[in-house]
Amino acid sequence: MKSLFWYKRPYDIEKTETQFMKEMRENMHFQFENCKEYRALLEHRGWYEERIDKLESVAEIPFIPTLFFKHHRMDSVPREKMLTTATSSGTSGAKSVIGYDVLSLLKGLGMVLRVGKEHKLWSLRPCHYIILGYEARNILGRKNAVEEKAVAKTAYGFTFFAPALSRTYALRYIDGDYRLNLEEIREKLITFSRGNTPVRIIGFTFHAYWLLSKMKEAGIKCPLPKGSLMSFGGGWKQYYTQRAEKQEMYDLVEDVLNIPESMCREFFGAVEHPILYCDCPKHHFHVPIYSRVLIRDVDTYEPLEHGKAGLVNLLTPMVKSAPILSIMTDDLGILHDGSECGCGIDTPYLEILGRVGMEDITTCAAGAENLMRTMLGEETL
Ligand SMILES: [Zn+2]
Repeated sequence: MKSLFWYKRPYDIEKTETQFMKEMRENMHFQFENCKEYRALLEHRGWYEERIDKLESVAEIPFIPTLFFKHHRMDSVPREKMLTTATSSGTSGAKSVIGYDVLSLLKGLGMVLRVGKEHKLWSLRPCHYIILGYEARNILGRKNAVEEKAVAKTAYGFTFFAPALSRTYALRYIDGDYRLNLEEIREKLITFSRGNTPVRIIGFTFHAYWLLSKMKEAGIKCPLPKGSLMSFGGGWKQYYTQRAEKQEMYDLVEDVLNIPESMCREFFGAVEHPILYCDCPKHHFHVPIYSRVLIRDVDTYEPLEHGKAGLVNLLTPMVKSAPILSIMTDDLGILHDGSECGCGIDTPYLEILGRVGMEDITTCAAGAENLMRTMLGEETL
């Protein structure tokens, strides 16, 4: 079977289970051979080459906490082979940087093509784009080593699902800094609402919510042409998880822009887990064939059954250039049976409940980080 990332149906987990395990084993083997930090972790846990080949359950794969990536960059291929990097948009100064080689990026491309098709994102009809986020600069510019925020790259990537007539950014890069440009966005929306060309809006949920609330308050309505699309996402924010506020958002979009709920798409992903999760018509994030989600007990890290809340562990064999095959987030979530949704996609779906409290982070994620540091011979926190 060809790679998982070029398989036609992105939610056909049953038919791709064997291939997923094969790619996870191959990835683990590659990390064992090429990433000294991950090898140290594996050896610490009693893993050796033969055992990797016999791996039967992804739950056994040693995970790395995302918190660890925020202080350490780990590479599994030489940096000169990295085509680009993704940097998380942390405000505290601690950021994760993940490097990508050509093969990992090609797999990502295959995934985006299939997921985009499944969720009807592709269109040949040209449109105007409004990006409620950062202006993308230096997309593949490793030479200048600009730490491009991953969200800017993702948003820029989204402007290729339909031919772009124009791109307008809410956060423009002027004189070495990002400046908020919402006035221009508002004017563009008013202009576009008078034409026939569809508009696609992409952005952070909170920027979109803020802008649309202001417009509503000011009594401004911009009914956009038919075929317009609203997509939002941009991180693991608590905001997304609150169903009531989500509905408020869809109502705002319909009210101010005349875009129906069926033309709203929500996404999530993380720098340390670059899988494209797109919500189904019932706004659930089903797990695609490229990844698995495990919910683990906060104290024991044992995998929990569906319907129980715990720490979210994300797994994928997509990236070879960094040891991110199994990462432990500091998010709390629940995995639901696919059948509970009723949209037709039968893979389980993930509900994020929010971040664990600071105290819990110290005991679980930082505890794991301390373990990593100790193994690498560094001082503990
Ligand atoms: Zn669904």
